Amino acid sequence: FDRNALNFSGGPGALPAVVLAETRQAIQAVPGVGLSILGISHRSDWFAELITQTERDLRALLKLPDSYAVLLLQGGATLQFSMIPMLLLRGSGCTAEYLRTGYWSAKSIPPARLEGEVRVLWDGERQGDGFRRLPTADELECSSAAAYLHYVSNETVEGVQFQTIPGRDGVKRVCDMSSDFLSRPFDPERFDLVYAHAQKNLGPAGVTLVVIRRALLDQVPAGIPEILDYRAHLQARSIYNTPPVMAIYVVSRVLRWLREEIGGLEPMDALNRRKADGLYGVIDRHPDVYAGWANPADRSRMNVVFRLPTPEREADFLRRAESAGFSGLKGHRSLGGIRASIYNGMTLAAVERLVEFMDDFAHNGH
Ligand code: PMP
Repeated sequence: FDRNALNFSGGPGALPAVVLAETRQAIQAVPGVGLSILGISHRSDWFAELITQTERDLRALLKLPDSYAVLLLQGGATLQFSMIPMLLLRGSGCTAEYLRTGYWSAKSIPPARLEGEVRVLWDGERQGDGFRRLPTADELECSSAAAYLHYVSNETVEGVQFQTIPGRDGVKRVCDMSSDFLSRPFDPERFDLVYAHAQKNLGPAGVTLVVIRRALLDQVPAGIPEILDYRAHLQARSIYNTPPVMAIYVVSRVLRWLREEIGGLEPMDALNRRKADGLYGVIDRHPDVYAGWANPADRSRMNVVFRLPTPEREADFLRRAESAGFSGLKGHRSLGGIRASIYNGMTLAAVERLVEFMDDFAHNGH
């Protein structure tokens, strides 16, 4: 195991070793082109073909109908927190509904309030013990007149993940899938807009994928700067201005890997479940040492968040983990504790190694 293989960082996350090797080579010279990926024009035919291929692979993985467009944008998931209400809330006269289930969904709400009325349908913080659990379907009173429902499928910081799709069919459903996109299959037709930045399951930071129902673009409010208007990016085939060429190249390699080496989203899901089961298993085996953060029914298969009895024990755990070769295990600065992020690029073998380390620590770490 090298350091990359044992990188449990919350994001940017670890990428598959074959993709790192291809990228290393592409920085020298892209095979068949002979130029470094860092110095290839975004106006070249080669790059246009790369965009086409990337979109084709994504469509194949998601079984995406043609009634949806795929866009590669910049500004991270955070820019989507503004672009979405600009498109769907501004001037609509309707109220947008938001689920506040953790650190990231909380961040998505203030930019929406700038564009119109927002109703927080569920506030996980009000449950009293931090964002540990997600609402069940009967706890949500979704209005049929809402402009849309926005939620985050996997809360990266707290490690809670929806295992069902909330909301009401007939109301537009918008989902931030930044930290679990392509980790499992989903039916795209139950969504109107799905977005995910690359730096968890897809590649490096710099590019954000948006899957949008084309019909949403029929009525765009006036006064949106062109760069924030999805139609401009659609017309320009995601080359509206200079895109992050290298980030998109890496995403294209990851999609290829997912299709050809993993075999698509079903086998990826099966693998991710085994990884998560291994880690939650060791946590549950040692309740005197480890305490999982999330309510068991809402446990994330991407971010396994847990605590030890004292800050000193946590510091000791992190120190020992670091010297055993693991990195990125420190919890998010807003929550503390430990977080093992097990995105698509993390191998089962590496997770098994962490499980073994945690078993040993529980037995001998006193
Ligand atoms: N949404 C989620 C679920 C995230 O995990 C993050 C960042 N980790 C963001 C949004 C913000 O993404 P960005 O830094 O790309 O703007």
